[in-house]
Amino acid sequence: MNQVIHLTGLTQAELAAFVEEMDEPAYRGRQIFASLHHRRLRSFDEMTDLPKEFRGKLNDRATASTLKVESRYLSEDGTRRYLMKTHDNLPVETVFIPEERRDTICFSSQSGCPLQCSFCLTAKLGLLRTLTAGEIVEQITIALNDAYGTGQKTPRGTNLVAMGAGEPFLAFESLMKALRIMADPRGLHIVPNRVTVSTAGIVPRIRELATVTDRPHLAISLAAPTDELRDVLMPINKKWPLNELLAACKEFERSLKPGERFTFEYVLLDGVNDGDEHARQLANLLNRHNLRAKVNLIPHNPADPLPYRPSPPERVESFKHILESKGVHAFVRRPRGRDIYAACGQLAARGTANPTPPTRHQLA
Ligand code: SAH
Repeated sequence: MNQVIHLTGLTQAELAAFVEEMDEPAYRGRQIFASLHHRRLRSFDEMTDLPKEFRGKLNDRATASTLKVESRYLSEDGTRRYLMKTHDNLPVETVFIPEERRDTICFSSQSGCPLQCSFCLTAKLGLLRTLTAGEIVEQITIALNDAYGTGQKTPRGTNLVAMGAGEPFLAFESLMKALRIMADPRGLHIVPNRVTVSTAGIVPRIRELATVTDRPHLAISLAAPTDELRDVLMPINKKWPLNELLAACKEFERSLKPGERFTFEYVLLDGVNDGDEHARQLANLLNRHNLRAKVNLIPHNPADPLPYRPSPPERVESFKHILESKGVHAFVRRPRGRDIYAACGQLAARGTANPTPPTRHQLA
C-alpha cells in the first residue's frame, strides 16, 4: 500500500504531472481530478470515460480511496458519525451535521491526538498518526456521498470545520494542501471562506495562517481565563501561555476582513471553569487585548472516564450574560450527536448500540 500513490491527495497540476509520467496526455489528469472531486468517485473502475487499459495501469500504481467506513452511527438529532479505518488500520472519524441553512462536516486532522486536554476523550488515544491531505479530502467525499448520493450536487453548499480528532495546526501541511484541493472549482469547490480551523493554540501556526491569502477562519480553544487553570486543563498552555497566545491573535486580527471575527471556544465544566468570576476574568482578558472576537460556549460533553460534568443551563446563561454585559459577544453552542459519541471532544473510535451498516458506495 505504501508505494501505491493516493491520487485524492494530489492537486490538479500534480495529477497532470503524474499521468504525463505514465506517458498519457495531461488532460487525463484533469479528467481524473474531476472524477475524484466533482463526481466524487472512489474507484478507477467507475471512471468509464478513461480507456480501460489506462484504468488497469492506474490500478497497478495508484488508488482512488484508502479510507474504509467501518460503522456509521445516526443520532436522534440527525447527526451522523462515520468511524473509518486508514490503510494501516488506524481510526478516523468524521461527523455530518445537518442544519437548517447549510450542512456542516466536521473532519479529523489526525488519528488520535498528542495534546492532553483533560476534558477531551480523543486525548485518551494519544497520537496515532497525522493524516495525509488525501485522507482529509476523502472524509468529506464520503460524508457528502452518504448524504446526497455519489456525484449528486450538494443542494445547500457545505461548511467544513476542522474540529474532529487531532490538532489541525500539527497537521498544517496536510491541512493546507487538502484545503487547496477542496477549493478547486473543478472539484468539490468548497472555498476556504466556508472552512473553520480550530486550534488548541499552536502559536507559530496562528502567525503563519495570518499570512495565507486565501485562508480559512480561525477558532481558538481557550477553556480557561487564567494560566493557572489553563495549564491544568490544556497542558499545551505551558508551552504557549495565554499572553503569547493572545498576542498572536492580536497579530492575526490584522488579517481579518471587514466584519470578520475570530472565535474563541470555551468548554463549560461544572464547578471548574464556569463561575461568575471566570466569566469576568475571561471578559477582562479579551477586553484587555481588545480583540475582535466572539466566544462560543460549549457545554461539556461528558464521556466515561472524563472527570467532568456539563454546567447546568442556568450557569451557562449566567456566564453568557456576564460576558455580554462586558461587551463580549457570546453564543451557546447546542450539542449535536451526543448520543452517538459524535459531539465535541467525544471522538475516540467508540462503538454505540445503534450502528447502521455502511452503504454500498461507502465501502467502495
Ligand atoms: N485540537 C483542536 C481541534 C479539536 S476541536 C482544538 O483544540 O481546538 C474540538 C473542540 O471541542 C475544542 O474547542 C475543544 O475545546 C472542545 N472539546 C473538547 N472536548 C470537549 C468535551 N468533552 N465537551 C465539549 N467540548 C469539548
